[in-house]
Amino acid sequence: MKKGYDVIIIGGGIIGCSIAFELAKRGVTDILLVEKGFLTSGATGRCGAGIRQQWGSELNARIAMESTHIFENLEEYTGYSHSCGLHQGGYLLVAYTAKEWAQFQENLKVQHKLGIDSYAVDLKQAKEIVPYLNTEGMYGATFCQKDGHADPFHCTQAYAQGAKRMGVEFLTYTEVTGLRTAGGRIAGVETTKGYFEAQTVINCANVRAPGLAAMVGEDIPIISERHQALVTEPVEPLMDCMVMSFHRSYYVQQTPHGSFVMGIGPQEEPSFNFKSSWQFLEKNCAVMCEVLPILRKLNVVRQWAGQYDLSPDRNPIIDEAKQARGFYSVCGFSGHGFMVAPRIAILMANHLTHQEDTMDIRMFSQERYKTGKLLLEPAVV
Ligand code: FAD
Repeated sequence: MKKGYDVIIIGGGIIGCSIAFELAKRGVTDILLVEKGFLTSGATGRCGAGIRQQWGSELNARIAMESTHIFENLEEYTGYSHSCGLHQGGYLLVAYTAKEWAQFQENLKVQHKLGIDSYAVDLKQAKEIVPYLNTEGMYGATFCQKDGHADPFHCTQAYAQGAKRMGVEFLTYTEVTGLRTAGGRIAGVETTKGYFEAQTVINCANVRAPGLAAMVGEDIPIISERHQALVTEPVEPLMDCMVMSFHRSYYVQQTPHGSFVMGIGPQEEPSFNFKSSWQFLEKNCAVMCEVLPILRKLNVVRQWAGQYDLSPDRNPIIDEAKQARGFYSVCGFSGHGFMVAPRIAILMANHLTHQEDTMDIRMFSQERYKTGKLLLEPAVV
């Protein structure tokens, strides 16, 4: 192995792999990606993999819309020979309060400005879309057919294999344990398999990103919150779309092979706890069986836990360390990093290769927490 690279990326989730791919596409191929487990062993491999364009802020709606366009073509875009499993069965976002319903009307205006094909539905129409839905307590819903979900393992592999073909090297089961700086710049990374030099290091370690950034004196305000999900036995097709509520903090979808995947937001202290809990199973099943009573007949086959890297305004932080120039953190995706990865990777790669972008990367700097220019988002769990 070489001793030095132009760029080292820490973290082999969808964010690290998509940035590696976009950089290589722009001619920066002397890259080493270091991952402490296997690719997708972090949040990416544990996520619901939902992709929605129904956001409330123009920024998020645009990032999600442009990312969706890439997901629609990811196999061709990356030269991947398998299917990435995109299924555009739509997202039905349900409102449970008058305030939420009013906000949904505002969100639609933002989405329509960008040309996103979303619309409001009444409860009768919601039941036509999801016949087994219990609409009790709901005010209404919005729907976008082009929303859906994809396979997070294949999407990440598509980016990783595309990057590999362009010359990017991958070092898995290798942990970054230290960072070295020289003259106010990043100089390299210490790993469990030795030291590697690099003038640019990109920290895509999700909930572990603050710990790495702290090694170069950077304080990233991200907390780690456990989120759990479960999957049922497969059954015949009962619904085609994702059903999601911000107010009650749940989502549920049926995968193409018939299993239902679902999750419900936690109410717990920050932690690095990756264990599944009985409490989640109980609460999730109670809520989901009320929303979709037909689920009462299904057996749960598997349950797991992952982490959200929650930033103060629930939006990503993309920042260069002040005391170690060339060290970038790309983290804080707060539960929606999978669906925005394609566009964020382009933004980051354009920035590093000094190419123009229609988005201003500075918006994502954590400076916003000092200036008060937060990236506010009403449509987030
Ligand atoms: P990760 O996939 O966590 O990758 C970071 C990698 O860094 C890990 O593989 C880790 O092993 C590695 N690493 C950490 N420290 C080190 C080190 N010191 N050295 C080397 N490697 C290191 N998003 C959506 O868009 N839609 C959804 O429906 C959705 N549902 C979710 C459901 C759940 C239950 C969870 C937990 C998350 C969900 N998310 C969803 C969020 C999404 O999974 C994340 O935002 C996204 O996967 C973040 O990708 P990442 O590459 O930043 O992080």
